[in-house]
Amino acid sequence: MSFKALNLSDPILRGIQAAGYSDPTPIQLRAIPIVMGGGDVIGSAQTGTGKTAAFALPILSRLGAHGRARVLVLEPTRELAAQVETSFRDFARFTDLRTVAVFGGVGYGNQRNELRRGVDVVVATPGRLMDYLKDGTLNLKDIEVLVLDEVDHMLDMGFLPVVRDIIGRCPRERQTLLFSATVPPEILAIASFALRNPTRIEIGVSRSVNESVKHALYPVGFAQKFDLLLALLERTDFDSVLVFSRTKHGADKIARRLKAANHSVAVLHANRSQNQRIEALAGFKSGKYEVMVATDIAARGIDVAGVSHVINYDVPEKPEDYVHRIGRTGRAQAVGDAFTIVTPENEKDIRDIERFIGAKIPQLKLEGFAYGAYEPRPERPPEQRESRGSARAHGDHASKRGGFRGFGNRRGRR
Ligand code: AMP
Repeated sequence: MSFKALNLSDPILRGIQAAGYSDPTPIQLRAIPIVMGGGDVIGSAQTGTGKTAAFALPILSRLGAHGRARVLVLEPTRELAAQVETSFRDFARFTDLRTVAVFGGVGYGNQRNELRRGVDVVVATPGRLMDYLKDGTLNLKDIEVLVLDEVDHMLDMGFLPVVRDIIGRCPRERQTLLFSATVPPEILAIASFALRNPTRIEIGVSRSVNESVKHALYPVGFAQKFDLLLALLERTDFDSVLVFSRTKHGADKIARRLKAANHSVAVLHANRSQNQRIEALAGFKSGKYEVMVATDIAARGIDVAGVSHVINYDVPEKPEDYVHRIGRTGRAQAVGDAFTIVTPENEKDIRDIERFIGAKIPQLKLEGFAYGAYEPRPERPPEQRESRGSARAHGDHASKRGGFRGFGNRRGRR
């Protein structure tokens, strides 16, 4: 089915054409008719599925001409707010609709001027939006459509109380769209308070890894993590690589060491100033930096076309973050590679991730790399992999084979 058959307005169809989209993605096919019909939606879809356009296109089509602030989109991070606002603006380029991105870390002046000038669509992070609501720069009395995007991430960041407050300031009579990769009880509570007879849309399995991504584990001893990262960068034919660190401090340290090894590196994490974050992302997008080292918070949902590789320097803390990280590459069907550096300490984390995504991640050894004590060994044969006994049974089993899958046996070393 084409975009034309979805009853979108003519100027928006022209915007889609200018964006270079030819066919709707599955989530767009499912969501657009419901949003066009004014219905509420709870959507779970992987990043990279075209979720933004799935709500932006029908919302813009229904808005028609410039009027009052009728659409509010809440995003968990500044980068996402900026990115989603850019999508709205691009799709609306053949209309007179006005959009604004509202987020913290930058001055108030420009945002306030834009809001006062009159906008139709506000894409905001909750904290800065609250500032403008409290000082009277903006009110939400004309909001017709409220989009709560990446709500699980808002929950992680402790935004839910502010989000509730903001929802309470919107008219009761409105359309609400909620997107969240997972729907734990706290989010279900928000959904039942904010949505009316929502249609639930799940695209694929929200836990699955984008099929165009080839992913692999690279086991190594803890002391050799950085050396392996350098070797992977050296041996891989990459255009641009996103390296994930668990901590901000760790991200800085990896970046420093990569710079010392003559890589051009950007860093993205929440302790950097907004200008530094904008510069890092713009430089990475333009190719000025070939490597960007980021934490999960900063990188969630950002759309960087052409990320050829994701390298998890640290295994993510939560299994769902694995899917989010990997989703940065292979977006919209481009092929990407995703490597995860794992140490023996990560054994349980990896099992959790594999259980979460419902698949086993292949394990590779980097040929020619001077492995130390933890030399990876061949995989356990498939019939033995399924042994899901107690941790103790697993340990015994593993020790017979020489440790966590390919690792050398730690006990043997002592
Ligand atoms: P999202 O999941 O909204 O972050 O979108 C992921 C990427 O897919 C973005 O770069 C979009 O521009 C792109 N995209 C979204 N919808 C389509 C489509 N129908 N055809 C081609 N690319 C698309």
